[in-house]
Amino acid sequence: MIFEDYYSNLLHHCALCPRQCHADRFSSKLGYCNTGAVFPVSSICLHHGEEPVISGKRGICNIFFSHCNLQCRYCQNYQISSNVIGVGPIVLELEEIITQLEVHLKNKITRIGFVSPSHVLPQVEIIMKRLRERNWNPVFVYNTNGYDRSEQIRSLEGRIQVYLPDLKYTDGSVSKAYSDAADYPFYAKEAIKEMFRQKGSEIILDEQGEILSGLIIRHLVIPGQVENSIACLRFIAEELSPDVSVSLMSQYHPVPATIKHRCLGRTLNKEEYAQVRHELEKLGMQNGWIQELESSAYYFPDFNRPHPFEEKNHHGGRGEHGE
Ligand code: SF4
Repeated sequence: MIFEDYYSNLLHHCALCPRQCHADRFSSKLGYCNTGAVFPVSSICLHHGEEPVISGKRGICNIFFSHCNLQCRYCQNYQISSNVIGVGPIVLELEEIITQLEVHLKNKITRIGFVSPSHVLPQVEIIMKRLRERNWNPVFVYNTNGYDRSEQIRSLEGRIQVYLPDLKYTDGSVSKAYSDAADYPFYAKEAIKEMFRQKGSEIILDEQGEILSGLIIRHLVIPGQVENSIACLRFIAEELSPDVSVSLMSQYHPVPATIKHRCLGRTLNKEEYAQVRHELEKLGMQNGWIQELESSAYYFPDFNRPHPFEEKNHHGGRGEHGE
């Protein structure tokens, strides 16, 4: 029995994420994320394009889960994140996942990233447990869109070493229009406060300068949404701490669904990015990374390839704050 009673109950009446659908994920009537009690994994691969402390020299082994509890119109991973029936996920057996992860761990990869884990938390727990039973203790990175319930984040305390959430919006009308979630700001702020309670603003690194523990908040600047970006940075500086590590991202790239949109159909311009960077400085936020504006093409994955990020990502697109 893969799903023990506790996880089974969570999936029978699913309220894992803020959508709180109460769907029975063992049935054919699924919730918003259209994900059953399976392991919907689109890709398990080495990734070198995360923040330098996350990727390190050898890369991080990322598990990309398919489907998502947010449906961002501009999602850069749209090939795997859509909940539309017919855009089906690749479902793997647990043993296959563990076998693939063990190949990377035996090759001295020390970090495993769960990408878009919010709708598959029981599956994440089972993967971590199975690896620990086999005496693997990698650094687990929870790489989330931020649309999480703080209760679930609390339940991960002590088992997730690195939180890597997005803070996408502080304005509910924007989150409604762009990600179909008017309550995103409320839930993301509460979830990130809980991550901050667990980790604080200090990042713990090993002797190679690679992360062992901590919180890094990502913010993608969306074309035409400078005010939203400034408000996100103010929340972090004023309600958490200006010392929290922030990864400011300029990699926005239009996707087929947004190509005709007035703002979402273009990349970020210099003036917009300069205003957001200026705010970061004004708030005294010196920890973290800033992507170069030219980064949009480098970070655009193709999940139709065995290695979605191959030859696209590189560390050169990110400079540390203040550089
Ligand atoms: S994880 Fe999926 S089914 Fe569960 S509450 Fe969220 S959207 Fe609904």
